Amino acid sequence: MGNKVRPVIQMTVAWSQYPEFTHGTEGGLPLLPRGWAPKTLLATVRQLKKLGLRPGGHDPVAVLYGYSSKGGQWFAPLYLIARAKPMLPMTPNRWRSIAKANTARRCCPVCGRDRGYIIPPSLGMCVPCTEAGENTNASNENGADPWAA
Ligand SMILES: [Zn+2]
Repeated sequence: MGNKVRPVIQMTVAWSQYPEFTHGTEGGLPLLPRGWAPKTLLATVRQLKKLGLRPGGHDPVAVLYGYSSKGGQWFAPLYLIARAKPMLPMTPNRWRSIAKANTARRCCPVCGRDRGYIIPPSLGMCVPCTEAGENTNASNENGADPWAA
């Protein structure tokens, strides 16, 4: 395959109190060949996801690498499972608040109608309101219906 042989180096790592064997470093992080990462301590983002976890703002502590079937090398950051945070589940309440936020963005602040599209921030109101404002703004200043009172 022509891949360069990486030297085995013993170094201090984040997941053990003892120096561990690695294949050197990649981007300043301990580099581990596939199969070397302790499965109970380290996980890639994809593996975290399977556990219902996410990095939660923590930086990776190591890099996993391997070779694809075509011989290309791949790298994947490894995170400490102990530091990972639970993935936020999409509860009915979360769906509702997202739907609410989307509805709010579609609602025109002038006429209050859900226009079915995001109100352009440049206009600050829906298109019919913008047009109505441009056409009748002056005549509406004194009230839409002069005979109402
Ligand atoms: Zn409107």
